[in-house]
Amino acid sequence: MKVDVLTLFPEMMDGVFRSSILGKAQEKGIVSLNAVNFRDYSGNKHGTVDDTPYGGGGGMVLKPDPIFAAVEDLLSQSSAAPRVILMCPQGETFTQQKAEELSSEEHLIFICGHYEGYDERIREHLVTDELSIGDYVLTGGELPAMVAIDSVVRLLPGVLGNESSAITDSFSTGLLEYPHYTRPAEFRGFKVPDILLSGHHANIEVWRREQALKRTLQRRPDMLDKAVLTDQDFKIIQRLKQEQQEDGS
Ligand code: SAM
Repeated sequence: MKVDVLTLFPEMMDGVFRSSILGKAQEKGIVSLNAVNFRDYSGNKHGTVDDTPYGGGGGMVLKPDPIFAAVEDLLSQSSAAPRVILMCPQGETFTQQKAEELSSEEHLIFICGHYEGYDERIREHLVTDELSIGDYVLTGGELPAMVAIDSVVRLLPGVLGNESSAITDSFSTGLLEYPHYTRPAEFRGFKVPDILLSGHHANIEVWRREQALKRTLQRRPDMLDKAVLTDQDFKIIQRLKQEQQEDGS
């Protein structure tokens, strides 16, 4: 996969792209991550990429010409048909499902905004997707783009050491993940559940499924409406709801 990020602050990407899973994915040749300063496409000697808004009002607006020129240059070098993704708080909320969808693409181009906003023609005539990482406003699109890139790249085959860990992650299964424990078996009097020490893998799987259902019911009951559930899962949920009522929890 190739990922290009259009930004006015390419240095923000340096540490993140070189570290941890993203760094290793690049070393393995699975992904190539590239920050492009769209000021280089300003077309004027001052490197101006923003201007005052027509109609007045505060804040500066990113001009269309440098961003169109940068994207078109990248498109001319691409054999794939890239997704061109505008990071903005008004976009579709980024989810694990969206990360899975984007992980099947060959080439992604992210556009990071700054200032008050983008010239609307970028939205209307250049991008394929608009993504928000949540209902809050950040100074620029760099952190949101890095969030999205990290979650997409870790899904690419061969990136994670343990392939199954992405499959069982919260949201991938439609449920929150079950609780984890490691050594020691007893810490300050707090014990690991006996079932996990039993070595009985089938029973452990049953326990984990029930714990995932329980955690989702307690913390994100909205997710159960969309999750793919078996008859056995429905019975467990019914029992957990009864237990919750009895506990008053
Ligand atoms: N005036 C804009 C509005 O009300 O929608 C907010 C502009 S914000 C200060 C500057 C840039 O940060 C945006 O263009 C976008 O690239 C990025 N940004 C801020 N919050 C974001 C979010 N929640 N998700 C994705 N990008 C965001």
